[in-house]
Amino acid sequence: MKIEEVKSTTKTQRIATHSHIKGLGLDENGYAIQNAAGLVGQELAREAAGVVVELIRSKKMAGRAVLLAGPPGTGKTAIALAVAQELGSKVPFCPMVGSEVYSTEIKKTEVLMENFRRAIGLRIKETKEVYEGEVTEMSPVETENPMGGYGKTVSHVVIGLKTAKGTKQLKLDPSIYESLQKEKVEVGDVIYIEANSGAVKRQGRSDSYATEFDLEAEEYVPLPKGDVHKKKEVIQDVTLHDLDIANARPQGGQDIMSMMGQLMKPKKTEITDKLRKEINKVVNKYIDQGIAELVPGVLFIDEVHMLDIECFTYLHRALESTIAPIVIFATNRGKCTIRGTEDIVAPHGIPLDLLDRVMIIRTLPYSEEEMVQILKIRATTENISLDEESALSLGKIGVQTTLRYSVQLLTPSNLLAKINGKDAISKEEIEEINKLFYDAKASAKILAEQEDKYMK
Ligand code: ATP
Repeated sequence: MKIEEVKSTTKTQRIATHSHIKGLGLDENGYAIQNAAGLVGQELAREAAGVVVELIRSKKMAGRAVLLAGPPGTGKTAIALAVAQELGSKVPFCPMVGSEVYSTEIKKTEVLMENFRRAIGLRIKETKEVYEGEVTEMSPVETENPMGGYGKTVSHVVIGLKTAKGTKQLKLDPSIYESLQKEKVEVGDVIYIEANSGAVKRQGRSDSYATEFDLEAEEYVPLPKGDVHKKKEVIQDVTLHDLDIANARPQGGQDIMSMMGQLMKPKKTEITDKLRKEINKVVNKYIDQGIAELVPGVLFIDEVHMLDIECFTYLHRALESTIAPIVIFATNRGKCTIRGTEDIVAPHGIPLDLLDRVMIIRTLPYSEEEMVQILKIRATTENISLDEESALSLGKIGVQTTLRYSVQLLTPSNLLAKINGKDAISKEEIEEINKLFYDAKASAKILAEQEDKYMK
């Protein structure tokens, strides 16, 4: 089993609307600053979240979870993301919605497990030997085509590297020249070359550098150790789910038969329990060796009342595991029946034994002024200019509808402003766009009033 390098699979789109949030915006005593780190208002909830962050840092949250309870659009997702950011810049944040577990193809607990593993990071420290210095010369050396044909080939590259100890001339494999070109390196730039990947190839015994490094003919060897040699720590952040995916992918070869084989196979590859166990084993080994470190992140489960009793049982157990992420639930429901039971009514639709382990934080509706502040932050983040009057009118719309609705009017209003030849959104565009769309509440009202006109 090998751990492969992968691109992170974080659900970026869902987080994009919260890109202005950088933290909880608390002062050194843990009090919320009205407008800081991208967050506005909701002071009590932010302060409570700050306490949770402290508990996590002092490892006192094990087996416990958080529930953000409040109406839609009161910043529950925003605050959960802020908690993850307070824990560190590369701490994973995985948002999901309760109803996601009801897929026709995957078991409910499998969906939960996958999201758990998306919320657990692994920081891998690699020490690479590198050559570091300022490039003083960079010249490919060409030789006649050795096979006697036409044209020339680059046999090696001469690179001058200036370090504190002086300048050294390195004669390197042509592949390094390619990567220097790819990186758009010019003379005068400071570069480093990785010792493991940068190999020197000897062309023949008569080459001057062959004697310098004492190579066997046609042999690849690591770069020589010398005064430009340094150690550099490269840190890579992945999630356990990233590792699952990378290792579940069929290990296809380059020959035509295996490429055809990959075409025929279904796109979705199975991540089995066995595979996860093996990955865990390798990860544990890395941790023991001090190469890797676990970074528990935040798993945010919105509309938690959509989960059923089976999911709750699973979650309850998973929370007890030694490598659980912080689980933050959110709901806008009060008392309701727990899904999957006949008639067990519980607060927020969460079984009492789990609720016992949950710290509940309330979020409250925003004032008009707070909405205006948030709208202005979003406009700046999206590079949209908004005059004072239109910010105020968007705030009014927010109070009548929801914050989310008024934030969503920014982009189309901006497009319309551009069409109208303006640099900034004015009240005119907002009114026009607002007439075109319905917010959820208005739409529901129309549906209720005109019920007989719609198909059931
Ligand atoms: P909830 O999860 O409670 O439904 P949310 O966090 O998803 O709320 P939205 O209704 O999507 O919030 O809010 C619209 C926009 O306002 C988002 O860009 C969100 O990040 C931002 N926002 C919400 N609350 C705050 C806040 N207190 N401070 C700054 N921005 C906020």
